[in-house]
Formats: sequence, structure tokens, C-alpha cells
Amino acid sequence: MQRYFVEGSNWENKRLWITGEDVHHILRVMRMEKGDKLVGIHPQHGPARCRISEVTSEHVECLVEEWLEENRELPVQVSIVQSLGKGDKLEQVVQKGTELGAYTFIPYQADRSVAKWDGKKAAKKIQRLQKIAKEASEQSERIRIPEIHSLLSFQELIYLKEEYDWCILAHAEEARSESFRPLASILERIKLDEKVLVVFGPEGGFSENEISDLVNAGFLTVRLGPRILRMETAPLYFLSTLSYQFEERGKNS
Ligand code: SAM
Repeated sequence: MQRYFVEGSNWENKRLWITGEDVHHILRVMRMEKGDKLVGIHPQHGPARCRISEVTSEHVECLVEEWLEENRELPVQVSIVQSLGKGDKLEQVVQKGTELGAYTFIPYQADRSVAKWDGKKAAKKIQRLQKIAKEASEQSERIRIPEIHSLLSFQELIYLKEEYDWCILAHAEEARSESFRPLASILERIKLDEKVLVVFGPEGGFSENEISDLVNAGFLTVRLGPRILRMETAPLYFLSTLSYQFEERGKNS
């Protein structure tokens, strides 16, 4: 059944109104009409099976038939700090990372980021990333859309550390070292519902200063397997590993 996130102010008792671009999708792309069913997702109460009760050019009104008991959220909150990269790499990370269960994405202007975002460009980019996260959340049947944080400076990244249980630095150099810290050694200690902040470098990796300052601030360097991954692959490896650890491991059919 087609799914739509509907902001809290558009719900009243058992009635909800879908507005904006989703109206076009429901009426023109899906060709739905009065009487058809869809899933509406409330930001706090989650998904509900609904039936379309009225259609105008401005909104699609639905009535809730049943609240659904489903939750596909990763049971640890993972915030991905992604250094700005070339082209559409950040968009790829947000789309695939949303499918894999990321909680938040935080764009970061790294020392070696080739791309630069100024104020106006940053606002537009974040708006586009938020749209990608919404579509990927609908596609992957999540009940929450990851938030796209505003662009972070290095100092803001250090301050952010206080809000997390775990702060991790994905460091390619660990993969080249004999005495690396394996990801497994950290995963085994993370508990359900804890908050994890993990930082990924751009194409050229982190600068020496960034690494030493992050390590001094308490970030744990980690390797993500023995191969050097592209900047857009590394967060997906990390999230997949967490899904295995917290959602799949030890579960027999
Ligand atoms: N030549 C760069 C370097 O040595 O850092 C490669 C950077 S890699 C393309 C981009 C980012 O992905 C790295 O900064 C790191 O955050 C992450 N990364 C890639 N492979 C990794 C690995 N095996 N272990 C840990 N992090 C990795």
C-alpha cells in the first residue's frame, strides 16, 4: 500500500489531510480516487491504514481505519556526519543511508572537501536532501524521516559530541595499520537506544589536524574492514553492520 508522511497539524481525530506534492502523486501518478486505501504516517503516532474520503485539487482527505503496529526503525540512533564531496555523493549517502536506517544526516565542511556550500546554496541543498530522505523513507517503509542537519563547522562538530553516547571516527588509516581497532570491538559495547555519532571524511580523507583534534576530543577511530572504501560507500558499510548486529544476528526463523 502506498505510504505518505503527513505532518501532525494535518490530523484531527480520525481525519487527515494530505497536501502539497503528495496530492499530485496520489491523484496523477498513482491514479487513486475516493474509496482507495493508503498508509498515512503521523510523526508521533506512526502509520495508519486509511481510506480516501474526499479529493480536491488542494488536498486528499482520508479517514483512519486502523493504526498499524509496525516499526522498522534501527534500534540505535545513528547520526552520520558526512563530509561534503563532489557531485551527488551526499545525495547518494542520504538516499541509501535512509534505507539502511540512519537517524540523522549532518553535512560537514571538511578541510579537504572540494565542494563548498555558501549560505544560500546550503539552504537549497538541505531542502533537496530532506526531500530525498522523505522519498527514501516512504520507499523503505520507515515510520520516521531522518532529519538533515544544517552544515557543521569543525568546532560545532566537537560541541555536538556531548549529545551522544558514542562518537566514532571512520579512519581509512586504521585499515592500513596492523594494530587497527575493529568495528566489532565497539559494536559489542553499544546498547539498544544509545546515540551514535560517526564521522566520515571526503574523497581525500581527513587532514592531520582534524584527526588529532577529533581523537583528542574523545572520538574513537575505527576501521571498516581492510579495504579503502569510497566516501559514499563507507557510511553504508557502517549502517549495514549495525543492522546485522542489532536486527539480524542470532535471529533464527
Ligand atoms: N585516501 C583517503 C584516506 O586515506 O583517508 C581515502 C578517503 S576514503 C575515500 C573516504 C572516507 O571513507 C575516509 O575519510 C573514511 O572516513 C572512510 N573510509 C573509507 N574506507 C575506510 C575503512 N576501511 N575504514 C575506516 N574508514 C574508511
